[in-house]
Amino acid sequence: MLFKISGGTVYDPANGVDGEVRDVWIEGDRIVAAPSDPGVRPTRTLDAAGLVVMPGGIDMHCHIAGPKVNMARKMRPEEKRRDPPVHRTANTHSGTMGSVPSTFATGYKYAALGYTTAFDAAVPPLSARHAHEEFEDTPCLDKGFYVLMGNNHYVMRSIAQKDPERLRSFVAWLLSSAKAYAPKLVNPGGVEVWKTRQAGNVSSLDDHVPSFDVTPRQIIQGVAQAADELKLPHAVHIHANMLGMPGNWTTTLETMRSLEGRRGHLTHIQFHSYGGGDGDENTFNSKVQGLAEYVNEHPNVTVDVGQVLFGKTTSMTGDGPLGYYLSNVYKSKWFSGDVEMESGCGIAPIEYRNKSLVHALQWAIGLEWYLMVQDPWRVVMSTDHPNGGSFMAYPQIIRLLMDRTNRQDALKAVNPLVRERSQLADLDREYSLGEICIITRAAPARILGLANKGHLGPGADADITIYTPDDNKEMMFELPRYVIKAGQVMVEQGDIREPVYGKTLHVAPEYDAGIEPDIADWFEKYYSVQFRNYPVGVEYMRAAEEIGCE
Ligand SMILES: [Zn+2]
Repeated sequence: MLFKISGGTVYDPANGVDGEVRDVWIEGDRIVAAPSDPGVRPTRTLDAAGLVVMPGGIDMHCHIAGPKVNMARKMRPEEKRRDPPVHRTANTHSGTMGSVPSTFATGYKYAALGYTTAFDAAVPPLSARHAHEEFEDTPCLDKGFYVLMGNNHYVMRSIAQKDPERLRSFVAWLLSSAKAYAPKLVNPGGVEVWKTRQAGNVSSLDDHVPSFDVTPRQIIQGVAQAADELKLPHAVHIHANMLGMPGNWTTTLETMRSLEGRRGHLTHIQFHSYGGGDGDENTFNSKVQGLAEYVNEHPNVTVDVGQVLFGKTTSMTGDGPLGYYLSNVYKSKWFSGDVEMESGCGIAPIEYRNKSLVHALQWAIGLEWYLMVQDPWRVVMSTDHPNGGSFMAYPQIIRLLMDRTNRQDALKAVNPLVRERSQLADLDREYSLGEICIITRAAPARILGLANKGHLGPGADADITIYTPDDNKEMMFELPRYVIKAGQVMVEQGDIREPVYGKTLHVAPEYDAGIEPDIADWFEKYYSVQFRNYPVGVEYMRAAEEIGCE
C-alpha cells in the first residue's frame, strides 16, 4: 500500500528542504523514499499541487490531561455554558469547549489545526494513571507527559544526602513507573515550602527548603545531571522559580547559568523575563534582551515561549504558591491541591487585558522572545495552553511573527507604555514559512529527541499537514486542507474524517534495581499508596511507543 502526496511545496527543514516542489511517499504509517523503479504506481495519490506540505505540528508544552486539567474543567462550568459545544458526528464524539476543552474536543481541535503530537507538561507521578486514562479519550494525537520532580521528597532527600547515584536511579524508576516522557521541575523547592507554611515560597536559587535542607539550585543541578547521565531523549524541563514576579529575570538568568553546560529546557520563558520590583525603579518592564543573548550564546539551553494572548482563560499550574498569588490578583475562585510527597497545584480563572500595562507587556515580551532568539531551532511556539491562552491561538501568533505590519497594528491597540518598556516596536524581523515550520514542529521534535517526528525523511512517522497558501497567515494556518496521521487522511478542510488513535510516547531508562527495596521502604513509611500498586502497567496505554535513551 503506497500513498503518494504529489507535487506539493514541501517544507522539511530537518532535511534542508525549504519550499521545494516534491512528492512525499508513504507506506503504512511511515514515510518512505520514492521508489527507485519508475514503473511503481502508488495505491493512492493525493494531489498537493499549489499546496504547502509540512510535518504535523508538535506542541511540546501544554496542559491537556491529568488531575489539575480535569479539576479546571469542573471549576469553569460558566465557560462550558457560554461556548458552543462540539457536536457528535458519525465519526466523532461530542465535547465541550471553553479554555479547558473536554478530552475528545481537545484531540479534534488540535487535529483540525494540523497538530499531530502534544505533551502535557505537569503530571504528578502519583496521578500518572489518571493522565493515561484521559489520554485514552484524547484521539488524533500522539501524546506523552512530563512528571513533576522538583518538589518530590525522595528527590530532595537524595540531594540532601549527596547521593547522585540514588537520585539518578530514582529519576529513572519514577519515569518508568509513571510511563512518562521527561522530568519536570516546577518552582523547585518553592512548592515544598508552600506546603509547609502559610504563603510560603522560595525567592532565589539559594534559598533553603527547610524540611530537607536543599536549595533550588541543588535540585536543578541534580535532576539536570541525572537526565544527562540517563541520556534521556529530552532534557530536564524547567519551570523556574519566581514565575510572574517583577524582577524575576535575574532568577531566570541564574537558572540558566546553574546548568553549567548541562542540557536544560526553560519553559514558558515569557513569564520569567520581567524587570521591575523593589530593586528596579523602572517598575515592570521587559528583560528579554539579556536573557535572549544568553540563550543565543549557550546551545545547551532551549526555550518555549508561553505567549500571552488577550482574553479570558484559566491558569493551572503545579506551582501552588503561584495559584494563590493569581487568585489574589484577580479576586477569582481558586483551587489549591497538595499531592503527598510529590507536588502541589493551583488553579484560578484569569483575564489578560490589552489596556493593562502588565498584560500588554507580557504579550510583547513573548513576541520579543520569538524575534530575539537568533536560532529558531532553540525557541518553540507555545502558549503554555491554557495559561497564556489557548492552543487555538497559534495561527494568530504565526501571523504576528510573519507579518510585521499586522504586529505593528496590534501594538498600536495595546497600552502605549509598552513601547517604552520593551523593544518590540523596533523589531523588524519577519519569520519565513520555513522558520515557522521549525518552531512549530522540527525544533520541538529535535528538542524532545523524537527522531521519527518533525521531518519528512524516510522512516519518519507519516504525520503531515497540508495547507492552502494565503497572504493572511492566520487564515492559512487555522484551516489546513488536509491532515494526515500515521498515513491516514484524518482531517479534510477542518472536518475529522478518521479520528486516528495516536500513540503514547514514554521512556524506560535503565536503572540499578538495587534501589527498589529502599523506595519500597519509603512507600511503606510515608505514602498512602502501596509500592506495588504505584507503577502504571502497559495495559493503561492502548498504543505505546518507548523512545530509547541513547
Ligand atoms: Zn505549563
